[in-house]
Amino acid sequence: MSTYREEQAHSQEMVIRHLQQVSAEERDRLRTMCAAYLTFRKTVAHHQRHHLQAICTRACFQSQLSACCNKDGIITFFADLVINALFSPPRKLADLMEALRDERLDMKCIYLGANGCRWHIKPLGCEMFLCDRALEEMKAAEPQAGHDWQRLEAEAKRFRWPDRPVLFDVIESRFLAAGMCSPLMYLHNSPGLMRIKRKAGLA
Ligand code: SF4
Repeated sequence: MSTYREEQAHSQEMVIRHLQQVSAEERDRLRTMCAAYLTFRKTVAHHQRHHLQAICTRACFQSQLSACCNKDGIITFFADLVINALFSPPRKLADLMEALRDERLDMKCIYLGANGCRWHIKPLGCEMFLCDRALEEMKAAEPQAGHDWQRLEAEAKRFRWPDRPVLFDVIESRFLAAGMCSPLMYLHNSPGLMRIKRKAGLA
C-alpha cells in the first residue's frame, strides 16, 4: 500500500471510529458547526451545475481526459474527512473504505470509482479546482459567472485559510484535544499554515 493510501485509510478509519464512539449530542454539535460550510457548498454546486457542467462534460468526461482527478495527488484536509463522515450515508462511507483497501491502480485517484468520486462531500480542494480552460470558457461565455466564481474562491478561504479562526482549524483542534493525530492535520502541522496562524495571533 502506498504511503499516501495508507495515510488516507488510517485517517479515514480514525475519524469514522471516533464519530461512532462520541455521543449523539457531540455529533450534532459538530454538524451544527458545519452549517455555514454546507450552505456554501450548495452554492458552489449550484454554480457548477449552471455554469460549468456543460463545459466540463464536453471538454473532459466525454473524452475520458478528466484532468482534475489526479492519482495520489489530491490534498485532503483532516476536516474534509470529518465533514464527509458526518454527513455521508453509512453505505457510501463503507464503499469509500472498501475502495481504499482495494489496491487497484487503474484509477486516476484512489477515491475515483466507476460512478465517479466516492466522497459524499468532496474535499474542498477538489470542489474548488477549475482548470484554466474551463475557467476561460466560462468567463468568455458568461463574464458575470466568472466574477461569481472569484467571489466563491474568496469565500472558500474563510473555511480553511487560517488568517482568522476557520472551521477546518476548529475541527482539527477538537480531534487533537480528543487525542487524535493525523498527518492530514495541515492546520496544525504545515509550516506555511502555522506561520499564517502565528501572524494572525492564532498560534
Ligand atoms: S477525491 Fe474525488 S473529486 Fe477529488 S480527485 Fe479524487 S475522485 Fe476526484
